[in-house]
Amino acid sequence: MEKYKVGILGATGTVGQRFITLLEDHPWFEVKVLAASKNSAGKAFKEAVRNKWILGSKVPQKYENIVIMDVEDAKKIASEVDFVFCALGGDKDAIKKIEETYAKLECPVISNNSANRMLPDVPMIIPEINPEHARVIEHQRRRLGTKRGFIAVKSNCSIQCYVPALHPLFDLKIKNVLVCTYQAISGAGKNFETWPEMKDNIIPYIPGEEEKSEKEPLKIWGKLENGEIIPNSDISITSQCIRVPVSEGHTAAVFADFENKASCEEIIDRMTKFKGHEMSRGLPSSTESFITYFRENDRPQIKSERNLENGMGISVGRLRKDSQYDIKFVCMSHNTIRGAAGGAILLAEMLCREGYINK
Ligand code: NAP
Repeated sequence: MEKYKVGILGATGTVGQRFITLLEDHPWFEVKVLAASKNSAGKAFKEAVRNKWILGSKVPQKYENIVIMDVEDAKKIASEVDFVFCALGGDKDAIKKIEETYAKLECPVISNNSANRMLPDVPMIIPEINPEHARVIEHQRRRLGTKRGFIAVKSNCSIQCYVPALHPLFDLKIKNVLVCTYQAISGAGKNFETWPEMKDNIIPYIPGEEEKSEKEPLKIWGKLENGEIIPNSDISITSQCIRVPVSEGHTAAVFADFENKASCEEIIDRMTKFKGHEMSRGLPSSTESFITYFRENDRPQIKSERNLENGMGISVGRLRKDSQYDIKFVCMSHNTIRGAAGGAILLAEMLCREGYINK
């Protein structure tokens, strides 16, 4: 099968590096362009990441000598690929413009960035949960004046363990959710060498994260009406987001109330039986078991669970009755795989199979 030609914008960063390793042997996608800022442009990839390669594995050989292009060189990049993944960091207004430029050049953009995330005609998709939001793309194309180009995004990494865990309970009518997230340092594009202050430390503030953690789930659970996604207004979420000394893997402690009551066993059963929307199944990055429930009191743990299902699985444990909310539980997922590059790749696979992206 002829593969889709793919570009990675922000290829030198934490998420960009994940894209590169996850796409090394991808059956549908072939990476043709690596792009980053002017600081990296013109350098061979291995040279550009010499002091910032954060993954344990080596730089894959096939990418070592690819010369990095400047993200601003959009016309040239768009002409060489079928679509791009965006893993850019930095100024949101600039990234909003860059993503729109690529879309207007008829090059679909699958983004990790939050710059365009809350626009009502930009679908924010977790393929197992709300793939049907892709229908808004036709309305976005009308706004942008494109035939092929569009922007689709995945959500913030922090919500990608607790929204999947709560979703199978949706028809119990979720009312109030309180969530505390414990987020890895790779979520800030850092490791312990580049962020030594995080050793033996906790920082109780992650800029912008609590707002995203409270609002983004409501868009994911929103309804498509008149060419826009209208956020869910029945559910109320409050959050605290905390940076913890963990390299990869975000954990969340969740408390939730429902209008319709169910036993803990029934809730666990709903979670583990949830296989995800049929549009998310049978893709190269789909999971066998989307949600795994651990009965041991000391799980899920980062080290043993973060690579479950190649980093795409959601781990849940400690589900029990609470004295103030109906239930409480703990969940976790891999922030740079499920929460970033892997989630975006699954989304792109779904959009390709559904015909939103062609070669
Ligand atoms: P990062 O490690 O700081 O990497 C940023 C990338 O963007 C680098 O390739 C960098 O290129 C490029 N870049 C920065 N400023 C630029 C500019 N002005 N023009 C062109 N390129 C520029 O960031 P990251 O952690 O990978 O995150 C990337 C995006 O994904 C962010 O929007 C982040 O919020 C989102 N995200 C991250 C995670 C996570 O777990 N890390 C999870 C979900 C979403 P140079 O190397 O040339 O500077």
